[in-house]
Amino acid sequence: MKKVDEYLELDEKLWERLLELTGGDVAVCYQCGECTAACPWGLVREKALPVRRLMRYAQLGVEHTDPDLWLCTTCGQCQATCPRAVDIPRVFKSLRQIAWEKHQVEKGLPTTLWSMYWNGNPWSQPPSQRASWAAKLDLPVFDPAVHEILLYVGCTSSYDRRAQKTAAALVRLLRAAGVSFGYLGNEEPCCGEAALSVGHKPYFEEIAENTARVFKEQGVKRLVTVSPHCYDVFKNHYAPYAPDWQPIHYTQYLAELIEQHRLIFDQALDMHLTYQDPCYLARLNNEYDAPRQVLAAIPGVVFYEMKDSHIDGLCCGGGGGRMWLETPSGERFSDIRVKQAVESGADHLVTACPFCLVCLEDSARLLPGSALRVLDLAELAALALKE
Ligand code: SF4
Repeated sequence: MKKVDEYLELDEKLWERLLELTGGDVAVCYQCGECTAACPWGLVREKALPVRRLMRYAQLGVEHTDPDLWLCTTCGQCQATCPRAVDIPRVFKSLRQIAWEKHQVEKGLPTTLWSMYWNGNPWSQPPSQRASWAAKLDLPVFDPAVHEILLYVGCTSSYDRRAQKTAAALVRLLRAAGVSFGYLGNEEPCCGEAALSVGHKPYFEEIAENTARVFKEQGVKRLVTVSPHCYDVFKNHYAPYAPDWQPIHYTQYLAELIEQHRLIFDQALDMHLTYQDPCYLARLNNEYDAPRQVLAAIPGVVFYEMKDSHIDGLCCGGGGGRMWLETPSGERFSDIRVKQAVESGADHLVTACPFCLVCLEDSARLLPGSALRVLDLAELAALALKE
């Protein structure tokens, strides 16, 4: 294939396809370049991710195989800066969809999708072990006649040893608040977000149809997710399959329980904290307040805002399928984030996403001379409960 840098080979059909896949968004871009300047890859690489250039190729319907396409973490920082509010992550996912069709995919991602196919999770873990994290917790299987909510654990918090602690802490909080809830154990289906974020929309649609069917059979209406990625996909991409669902992220649910005086923290914590806004909860779903309300309800803590918070929150680097790809040392956004956390004066960095938790903790461990501890908000909140 000829290189696009040599000359442009336009493909009208491809252009029409991209127009359709992006819901027309690709046509709105006027090539200002704000997106390239905003992209966090510019912080860790000499050559920034060329967002504007990829937008141009998409506009022209130029076939290309730029490996930079797979760098995008779909964090939405570019979209938040774009004067025309172009849904740039959607354009990237559409370009990736075409790359899948042409079998021009980043090494490692087919294995992730095959694992979802065979194991029902992207972590290459056995489906029979999905509920092992809860073996000692005596959790009831969801029953719509009895339970207020379904606790949707998700693949990462089911299998990753570090993230499992978040799910266990959340169970403790729900019990302390007197919430009647159940889970689906080994029968819990994957939400499909990993397939969607790496651009394999047809496979995502298959998963979503199956997951929605399982939830319908189980009589699920209100479900609380551990991960903002599951929350985002249920909220924004399941409408054709489950229009009457009420997905809610656990930070939103905890804030609700606090407001209803059902969840009360009775143990003061002597901690100096800062908070990492997970992109899929914050910028992509506009939820900045609920996690901060939970933090404000914990007695004894001193809270600092980090540089680059709220809509400017710096991505941890784990979205858009990057959790399943290697990011070389020196190019991890989370390294920058833990330095910002230390500079804020905090001794604890709190987040509310299993991807953020894993990425930030890895970086904190490697930061020379740092005593910064990384916690999920559920873990922190559970510490504020008396035994
Ligand atoms: Fe196009 Fe928006 Fe990027 Fe400007 S910021 S180049 S309008 S996508």
